[in-house]
Amino acid sequence: MKILISKYQITPRSSLNSLVTTSKKARDGALLKIQWMDGRIGYADLHPWPELGDDTLEEQLSDLKKGRISSQLEQSIWCADQDSKLRESKKNIFEVGAKVSNNFTLSDYKSAPDGMLDEIRKADFKTIKMKAGLNLEEEANFVARMASANFKVRLDFNAALSFQSFHKFLGLLTPRAKMAIEYIEDPFQFDAQQWTKASELIPLALDREVTRVKWDELPAVLPFQYLILKPAKDDVDKTVQKAIQHRLKVTVTSNMDHAVGVLHALAVAMKLQKDFPSMMCEAGCLTQNLFQLNECSAAINTSGPFFQKTQGYGIGLEKELNAVSWQAL
Ligand code: MG
Repeated sequence: MKILISKYQITPRSSLNSLVTTSKKARDGALLKIQWMDGRIGYADLHPWPELGDDTLEEQLSDLKKGRISSQLEQSIWCADQDSKLRESKKNIFEVGAKVSNNFTLSDYKSAPDGMLDEIRKADFKTIKMKAGLNLEEEANFVARMASANFKVRLDFNAALSFQSFHKFLGLLTPRAKMAIEYIEDPFQFDAQQWTKASELIPLALDREVTRVKWDELPAVLPFQYLILKPAKDDVDKTVQKAIQHRLKVTVTSNMDHAVGVLHALAVAMKLQKDFPSMMCEAGCLTQNLFQLNECSAAINTSGPFFQKTQGYGIGLEKELNAVSWQAL
């Protein structure tokens, strides 16, 4: 297996989540071009979030040089492998999966102009996902606004709260706002007892806090109802098995990464939508627009909550990926 890399930076248009205070700082990642012994070639993204506990890009790449593969890189290689197999059989991800609707990801509601909710509604989005945890009162008010505009709401606190502040947040919600919430993702650090109490108040989704979960020791009624599956970070087959075993719903999301990572997440979402339609929720892959445009993200066309077919085999972006300058590790 030969790995070529191309480092990149992507620049957020606004603050991305409650744990990232350096709001508009460019973020580092690397595209990977992997060639297997049998000649197959596939592409993937590696976009760490050190703020959320990932090893930095430099750490992961220097480990790779020494032959050590981080679990995140393992997922990138898995994605590249999937891509290579489609390219080899001359198929595009849109030909092997079902159509998938995505939530609108709102990274910074404060800088959202008046009338923005109307615009999102007109574009046919049904669900808004919002990163929260910086100002509970303002956030509760904004949830109320989204609820009165008839949106379903997904909130992600990235475990920034305590049980107490979470409880306080729920108290700030109007009944209608509370009803509009589909689930709350990672409200606070995972603790089976406290999450159980919290999940009796509102549906919970498990994302990054999955690393603290001891599956064998969980109570019969699980303390969460949804699993967030990020193909950039999580083993897809294992997550699907867990969901089937425990009758959990699954939302596939991007890792808020490069357009290449976005399309890999979408590929998984579409494939699972085809294979397990009743298990799957609306996806959260449409995040490339949270960053300033680059050649790859500009090549992705969307129509409201839907992606349109990309050009080429695998995830597509054939022309754009050919134009990238690749280097040996
Ligand atoms: Mg999350």
